[in-house]
Amino acid sequence: MIHKGPNPYAPDPNLKVWIDGEFFPADQAKISVWDHGLLYGDGIFEGIRIYNGKIFACTEHLDRFFESAVAVRLVLPMTKDEIRSAMREALKVNSLTEGYIRLVATRGVGTLGLSTKYTANPSIIIIAATIALYPQELCDTGLSLISSSYVRNHPNSISPRVKSLNYLSSILAKTEAQLLGAHEAVMFNHLGFVAECSGDNIFIVRSGELQTPDTAAGILAGITRNIVMELARQRGIAVTEKALVRDDLYAAHECFLTGTAAEIIAVTSIDGRQVGNGKPGEITNALKADYEKYRSA
Ligand code: PMP
Repeated sequence: MIHKGPNPYAPDPNLKVWIDGEFFPADQAKISVWDHGLLYGDGIFEGIRIYNGKIFACTEHLDRFFESAVAVRLVLPMTKDEIRSAMREALKVNSLTEGYIRLVATRGVGTLGLSTKYTANPSIIIIAATIALYPQELCDTGLSLISSSYVRNHPNSISPRVKSLNYLSSILAKTEAQLLGAHEAVMFNHLGFVAECSGDNIFIVRSGELQTPDTAAGILAGITRNIVMELARQRGIAVTEKALVRDDLYAAHECFLTGTAAEIIAVTSIDGRQVGNGKPGEITNALKADYEKYRSA
């Protein structure tokens, strides 16, 4: 959107952003136009929650960050422990006990051209900030989904397992959903099986069983997804990772999404069809309560 006058979405100028070892006020936190992260989307990221002054699932996020780095052949200039300490420092400097960390690594400054040979010094960025969540009303009523016309990236291309700085297919899917009056888009893979939503994993409940696409469907191995599967098993709910088709979504008794920001959020309509009784389901609500307890422990 183009707005006249000051950007209403400008960052809070009081926030301090960590870039390669130094803190900068939010409005002066900048990277070079020559950085291949900007020029080619050549980089990786993580989104991490802060609850109660603690970095939630920090090890899992750091492990995935380093796996993404390996996948795109990016040699990170810091160890996991060093990044963990820098993130803690960013929380302290910004006096944050609840919020969200965006951890980013870019290929760094280089000449024009795709070759990684002509770049040097990957940059690490840590933005510790507050988080804008779905409004409570939507959490209570549930989201509407549409089937996206955008196919999830082929796993042998830039795999959806990698949290790379190329999120355009997700952005286009989300925008498509919003233009059609829905909240989110469910994306299918190149074989036509359900993959995931633009920035969340998807689950359905059928006859009391929890079902979700296998990671082989070409999805991000969500950290919230893993925790939710474990919490369901602890409740005695069977969990199956399997190939799902669109009709499985239409026949679902319940549906919900999982993600670091959204946690667990119910879906109550898909392509204009009501899911279950049109309200967040019983198992969805039970898992939401379990998740809240788990993350506050
Ligand atoms: N799928 C995609 C495409 C994502 O970007 C994300 C993270 N926002 C997720 C799923 C959920 O993963 P996590 O639970 O690790 O946040």
